[in-house]
Amino acid sequence: MAVVDHGEGNVTRRGFQTEAIHGGAREAGEGMTPVTRGVELATTWRWPDPDAADDLRGAVEPHRFYRRHGNPNVESLEARVAALEGAPRALCVGSGMAANTLALMAVAPEGGAVACQPTVYGEVSTFLKGVGARFGLSLRAARGWDLAHLIEAMAGARALFLELPANPTLDVVDLAAVAREAMVRGVRVVVDATLATPFNLRPLEHGADVVTHSATKYLSGHSDAMGGVIAGDDATVTAAWHLARVMGPTLAPFDAWLIERGLRTLGLRMERVNANAERVAAFLAGHAKVERVAYPTVEGHPSTPEARAPYRGFGGLMGVVPRGGVEGAKRFVRALELFALATSLGGVESLVQFPASMARLTAEERSALGIPEAMVRLAVGCEDVDDLIEDLARALERV
Ligand code: PLP
Repeated sequence: MAVVDHGEGNVTRRGFQTEAIHGGAREAGEGMTPVTRGVELATTWRWPDPDAADDLRGAVEPHRFYRRHGNPNVESLEARVAALEGAPRALCVGSGMAANTLALMAVAPEGGAVACQPTVYGEVSTFLKGVGARFGLSLRAARGWDLAHLIEAMAGARALFLELPANPTLDVVDLAAVAREAMVRGVRVVVDATLATPFNLRPLEHGADVVTHSATKYLSGHSDAMGGVIAGDDATVTAAWHLARVMGPTLAPFDAWLIERGLRTLGLRMERVNANAERVAAFLAGHAKVERVAYPTVEGHPSTPEARAPYRGFGGLMGVVPRGGVEGAKRFVRALELFALATSLGGVESLVQFPASMARLTAEERSALGIPEAMVRLAVGCEDVDDLIEDLARALERV
């Protein structure tokens, strides 16, 4: 996947997990150097000379004189994420929402309409309808998932914001086809690939301009760090970097360190998560007490083969509607032992949640999008899949 130049015409390719362990910049140093990096907590650095400040005027790269402008742990993480996304440059910030809002402001600096797939993470639509509107941004949600509806939403828009796969219905669009249509219209494409991770989908290879992540989820992988990623072309990421410097959503060094540690096992975890989720989805889809399972490998999922083609797997999230309405779903959730009732996803542990209680949607909007009140969202983790299935089977007896 990653191309490595060893010199003298010797070029090789490395796989994802090798790049996850070895990608990015190695700490330079004389003699023996540590294999892993320590956490640099300093907020300020000594200047070598009063004239040194002149060198920093007009700089567009991180520089280590004050933590909001640069930190070795954050820079190291940025290099590793850029390598995994195949991006010229990455910027890491304090949360996934900081990444999404800065990315949108960077691709549409003068404001304008942002076309979106029919449903996106609730805070993104809240931003575009509220704070973002004060900066001239507006939300234009497509009325359907097919190309024609996305093209309709893109008319006159500055940017297109996609979340792949979508949460909690796991809808996926044909990214390459949508990106081609966006390009001819001069619309910049931002893909929040939190649910996919670069292991399952590398959006920049399919025509996206910018990819964002909530690193709080799979990239860190252990539900103990919060961060966000913006990766893409140099000019856009530099624009986001300038915004981050003045708006201040800095990523803390210890969180950067934890996320980078998590990234080293991303390929291992995602292989397991993909396989576990596929087995769990197939089990639930065949269960008499389950009305519907929204997961791309389950028959009847509305995604097309073209839209599914670029994915290695679809990650751990799925929407499940048990029979017996909301009360049945609550009984099911109360009986689960391994799936903790908690928001978020992407940690090694399995979680469950009611998406209807979290979505910023009316009941009519939810039902049009296929998110009934009785839907539960499973975030399947890395446990032994037979144990997860046993837990689900036992809980379904209560429905
Ligand atoms: N994007 C997606 C797809 C998410 O699921 C989330 C959080 O759940 C976010 C962005 C926001 O991330 P954070 O909570 O790190 O700000």
